[in-house]
Amino acid sequence: MRAVGHFIGGKEVKGTSGRTADVFEPMTGDVQAKVALASKAEVRAAVENARAAQPEWAATNPQRRARVMMKFLELVQRDYDKLAELLAREHGKTVPDAKGDIQRGLEVAEFACGIPHLMKGEYTEGAGPGIDIYSMRQPLGVVAGITPFNFPAMIPMWKFAPAIACGNAFILKPSERDPGVPMKLAELMMEAGLPAGILNVVNGDKEAVDAILDDPDIKAIGFVGSTPIAQYIYERAAQTGKRCQCFGGAKNHAIVMPDADMDQTVDALIGAGYGSAGERCMAVSVAVPVGKSTADRLMEKLIPRVESLKIGTSIDPAADYGPLVTREAVEKVKSYIDIGIKEGATLAVDGRGFKMQGYEKGFYLGGSLFDNVTKDMRIYKEEIFGPVLSVVRAHDYQEALALPSEHDYGNGVAIFTRDGDAARDFAAKVNVGMVGINVPIPVPIAYYTFGGWKKSGFGDLNQHGPDSIRFYTKTKTVTSRWPSGVKEGAEFSIPLMK
Ligand code: NAD
Repeated sequence: MRAVGHFIGGKEVKGTSGRTADVFEPMTGDVQAKVALASKAEVRAAVENARAAQPEWAATNPQRRARVMMKFLELVQRDYDKLAELLAREHGKTVPDAKGDIQRGLEVAEFACGIPHLMKGEYTEGAGPGIDIYSMRQPLGVVAGITPFNFPAMIPMWKFAPAIACGNAFILKPSERDPGVPMKLAELMMEAGLPAGILNVVNGDKEAVDAILDDPDIKAIGFVGSTPIAQYIYERAAQTGKRCQCFGGAKNHAIVMPDADMDQTVDALIGAGYGSAGERCMAVSVAVPVGKSTADRLMEKLIPRVESLKIGTSIDPAADYGPLVTREAVEKVKSYIDIGIKEGATLAVDGRGFKMQGYEKGFYLGGSLFDNVTKDMRIYKEEIFGPVLSVVRAHDYQEALALPSEHDYGNGVAIFTRDGDAARDFAAKVNVGMVGINVPIPVPIAYYTFGGWKKSGFGDLNQHGPDSIRFYTKTKTVTSRWPSGVKEGAEFSIPLMK
């Protein structure tokens, strides 16, 4: 059986804690590997390696740091197919979707190649007599990222690429459910010329996370995962004075206006609701048709499309989506469908009975569709994270705008319409962090920033784009006077720039 250890000091090392977790192959249901779960001492070893290597890396000029990132891009391209298959086999998503997972991460590494420009400071000549002021951005030191199972390539790259480009050393704690690709990415960074100790991967569970939270040498933590854990990490990191950004769960609404192009909207809802088995933080999980006739037309087109979704193995090129990540994930989604029925929603399509022939032990689930969901129901309030779409019928635009705005989560939202006035009003007023106009999954491109509001994001700065440079650096501002010999006598009041 394949054993996954840790990546510390530039190489893979075996776990020493004696604790491991099973890594499943969701499409077969078999255990395919055992991943080591790090102890506090193993996390500490990674931090010590990182701490020893970081000053020299920070002193390496930014164009050389960028070159490592450029080489990394090339190496990931070289190994694209192998990485995508490993990702698909550990996560469950299809190979084309796995390639997208890698691509959206690589785009952030591409952005990080601009670090010589991105890290430039500011300069003001003559702010006072002989006085010039300039600012510089300096790395924080050792920083850490704790990432979820659902994007095992993209989210680690969103974290480590800008952090390392800025001159930090990085400790990555990926999800224990699919650790294979993060380990390969660390190997590729080494092959690209990264000094040993700058990128370390510690696999593990709560014990490793708590060790990261308590380690005095870790200066910042970037987390992505479910909201309860995001909140826990944010609060505990704040207690020890760490800089922290934590991105949590979601309930993304898609508003369907009466004038929307219904075929385009249904295509968008099917892809964004059921792609990757709904295991995306930007998946559309609530559709909000405005007006009865819009709702009836939407349901008429949605039902046959959900019924005919093609569920397949992760390596089936014709599959719309593959298995979920674990059996527990399947059981959790099924339990939400039971709850929805009890709460009085109309189950228009029931995916619970789906069986994958030849793969009966795999973690498969058909697509489900609820109609007549209301905002007091748990299936509306809570994140299901599976192939289930809930339709909440709104009487008018104002009611539709209020639903995502008043929801606890605020990650993404979309509106489908041909009316520019409505789209513009919606984008300005909705109380959600990322908005799509006729775009169902509005994940911003790498040079903009990504982040949700309310219970979807804790902290001040977003991920990737310019915010990532701000998050992974501290600003120092220098006020200088030349010539130094100007005599003004002692000043006892606060100095003013005369
Ligand atoms: P999760 O919260 O279970 O795990 C995330 C990370 O936290 C993992 O590395 C895990 O090992 C660790 N962890 C789990 N339990 C812990 C505990 N009790 N104490 C300390 N650490 C713990 O999330 P997941 O199931 O891996 O990922 C799915 C979730 O992530 C969904 O809620 C999804 O919406 C969210 N997500 C959010 C975004 C975003 O940008 N907002 C992006 C992707 C996923």
